[in-house]
Amino acid sequence: MFNALVVEKDEESGKTSAAVKEISDADLPEGNVTVAVEYSTVNYKDGLCIGPGGGLVRQYPHVPGIDFAGTVESSEDDRYSPGDKVVLTGWRVGEVHWGGYAQKARVNADWLVPLPKGLDTRQAMAVGTAGFTAMLAVMALEDHGIKDGPVLVTGAAGGVGSVATAILANLGHEVAGVTGRPETADYLKSLGATQIVPREEINETTKRPLEAETWGGCVDAVGGEMLARALGQIKYGGSVAAVGLAGGAGLPATVIPFLLRGVNLLGIDSVMQPYDNRLRAWERIAKDLPMDKLEAMIHPATLGDLPGLGKDILKGQVKGRVVVDVNA
Ligand code: NDP
Repeated sequence: MFNALVVEKDEESGKTSAAVKEISDADLPEGNVTVAVEYSTVNYKDGLCIGPGGGLVRQYPHVPGIDFAGTVESSEDDRYSPGDKVVLTGWRVGEVHWGGYAQKARVNADWLVPLPKGLDTRQAMAVGTAGFTAMLAVMALEDHGIKDGPVLVTGAAGGVGSVATAILANLGHEVAGVTGRPETADYLKSLGATQIVPREEINETTKRPLEAETWGGCVDAVGGEMLARALGQIKYGGSVAAVGLAGGAGLPATVIPFLLRGVNLLGIDSVMQPYDNRLRAWERIAKDLPMDKLEAMIHPATLGDLPGLGKDILKGQVKGRVVVDVNA
């Protein structure tokens, strides 16, 4: 028997509840690799899946946790042997398949990658899905060319934003972090942000389709009004890597930045990334993300803390990265 955060749904009221329970190997879903999970994290989607599901969870009872790192316990796949350290992000694990909020997980070998050299399982989960996605966003900006000038990072104090800030700064870019929480300014500067932009300063600009060419590129974790404003402020030929919708799924923008400034809007999806891309991104993370900055982002948590943390992340109240020690 082992511990897991199990979300159950009361069929009569339709309400869900989450609690740490003991489950057994026989309860685990099908898969060809069983992993002794060491760490998981709290991402925006986890907040949804710990609560009423938001359309992501298909079946209850459910074990959330969209990412985890741990050690292979048993494997029916030639690529993995007991004792191998592995990382998992994406593939709808924690949504339609039971995830990392448990001391064991059973998954498909295709969804795993070997832990890259230079990272331990705790560091890998300090990065987690948010940091992995931040790296994908930086790589997409690089592929299209980052222009001179500061790179704008929106939702900077959140998970994606924190890691994107640290990576971009370490690569030598000036970083302008947009935050709605002025009290996080020192934290963002410690990650390498050279400029702190209050959220309202971006949201309350002229709202013309084109504004002054200001940013060499943008990693946007917020969407909505913020993304629309960023598009109009990117330098000619620059790109915005759109990662998230913490501020809304709508996009009140015009086509003008694309037509008159050749701006690229790059959609970033971490979920269905093929194996080679995932490996490349993890290797870049191990190389380009300073571990002392990663440490500064970490908030430790246990399985029992998750119901509260799930609510906090949906309210945009989590700073940096929550690392869940599932064995604590
Ligand atoms: P966090 O909650 O850690 O960070 C989001 C940040 O956005 C907050 O910290 C806050 O930053 C800002 N924010 C929140 N609400 C608003 C609002 N109403 N208006 C403006 N800014 C707001 O989440 P993550 O960083 O983990 O994820 C960010 C987004 O990216 C989510 O939508 C998530 O679902 C998505 N995502 C997408 C992935 C993909 O594959 N495309 C993978 C991972 C995440 P501050 O306080 O600094 O203003």
